[in-house]
Amino acid sequence: MSQSIRGILVLLVLAGLGSLGRVGKCAEHRVNYDYFKYHTMAEITGWMEQLEKEHQGVVTIVPYGQTYENRSITLLKISVGSEKKKAIWMDCGIHSREWISPAFCQYFVKQILDTYQTDEKMKQMLSNMDFYITPVLNMDGYVYTWQNITNRLWRKSRSPGNCGDSCMGTDLNRNFDANWGTVGVSRNCCSEVYNGAKELSETEAQAVTSFVLGKRNEIMCFLTIHSYGQLILLPYGHPNVSAPNIDELMSVGVAAAEAIKNVHGMSYTVGTSPNVLYPNSGSSRDWARLIGIPYTFTFELRDKGEHGFKLPEDQIQPTCEEAYEGARSIITYVHDKTFNIPNAASTLIATIWMVLLTLCLTSAPLL
Ligand SMILES: [Zn+2]
Repeated sequence: MSQSIRGILVLLVLAGLGSLGRVGKCAEHRVNYDYFKYHTMAEITGWMEQLEKEHQGVVTIVPYGQTYENRSITLLKISVGSEKKKAIWMDCGIHSREWISPAFCQYFVKQILDTYQTDEKMKQMLSNMDFYITPVLNMDGYVYTWQNITNRLWRKSRSPGNCGDSCMGTDLNRNFDANWGTVGVSRNCCSEVYNGAKELSETEAQAVTSFVLGKRNEIMCFLTIHSYGQLILLPYGHPNVSAPNIDELMSVGVAAAEAIKNVHGMSYTVGTSPNVLYPNSGSSRDWARLIGIPYTFTFELRDKGEHGFKLPEDQIQPTCEEAYEGARSIITYVHDKTFNIPNAASTLIATIWMVLLTLCLTSAPLL
């Protein structure tokens, strides 16, 4: 072999190795996104872009508003086929210090994408419903909690409120147009539960409101993910108002708690906010139920206070695994009821409903 041919061959081999290296790196990036680690806002945005590229025609990034600091609020739409469908809403990270919440939204998206072609039930649900999932709603707050250790427990938005720069931020989950400003809030802008200058004063709450209102006839189920406390909360936060389908919500919630318990044995308590936590007003869950979305729930993920908002990373995986089964139980019920499909979940829920009714009847006072 001549010197020059040998040279060309060496160059070709090197080029081949180089491109293999690039493919390897790309695949590595894709495969190695660590769902059981907390991620910065930039990492989560990169992950969303990556998913959109990898699942073209199924995953779409949808911008639907701006934060106070001008970040683009985006959700992932997961949709198979092009026809108009019913839909499921999920948002995470409305309270910025609850880091397990965005971690869960990411895991939830991964599970749907990993299973919708092989799991018959997920395939059927995707053929009838779209998913709208916001991994981080309070992006400004989330970025702030990552800046330094002092900011780690920031809860609110980052807007100045009505008292200037002395105390920043509004509690976004007290800012929705649902009995706004009545219970469980503060008018003091330094408070953690300051509810804003008026209802929907915050651009983040406005964004959710206008997006969901535009799809109010399609969205059947509204799930909003928080931590901590291990609770499944039902509407409403106001103790004097009751959802018309509260018994059904209760039985769907109890079935979800059962599904959660079956994974790692964790107990979740189900009830309205005033019954199992505290009264509140202006929450997104209550607003969604008030505008007619039939199934609205707040998840308060692990734990019960030992680590609180600083849930260690080694608990991300079990927390996500169990909460996924809880959310899936609710979504399956909503799907099967909407599309008139009998299944085991609805039978279980009907049984729970009967037991609850019997308990109510037998515990009624003797008058
Ligand atoms: Zn929260």
